[in-house]
Amino acid sequence: MIKYVIGHWTGGMHRPNKIDLSSYQLLIDSDGKRYNGLAPGTTSSTGGMNSITYNISCCGGLSTSPITKIQIEAFYKACAEILKKYNLTPDKFYTHAEIGQMCTDGTITKLLPYNQWLYQNKGKIDLTKLPDINGTPATTGNFIRHKILWYYERL
Ligand SMILES: [Zn+2]
Repeated sequence: MIKYVIGHWTGGMHRPNKIDLSSYQLLIDSDGKRYNGLAPGTTSSTGGMNSITYNISCCGGLSTSPITKIQIEAFYKACAEILKKYNLTPDKFYTHAEIGQMCTDGTITKLLPYNQWLYQNKGKIDLTKLPDINGTPATTGNFIRHKILWYYERL
């Protein structure tokens, strides 16, 4: 059962490669085009949480493949649609960087019981550098949730 939607970046190129496509449920390239990945629970996306998360990833994130404006808007919209599809509200969205921070400070147990695979998320920086914001896991996560909410209320 999907309880959370987790936002990622691939840390790779602006288009998904085979590994990217088998690492998430949905991907968004730098032109905002969507690519279906694999079914929930079958990918190694968010350590210790793969069976309860839907994982959406922006292709890129490197200094040579920064996330684009059209891409991140398409990402917000896709997140809103997926949250609604699973009857979840936008507060059930987290970035992988936020999950990593919560694994580091111990607050991850607010989301699920502790398990031995959660440490894999520590130090993740997914989506902390975007066209309109560059900040901590918490500030970028809050920014993204506000954007998702805008689309969510218009679905
Ligand atoms: Zn990630």
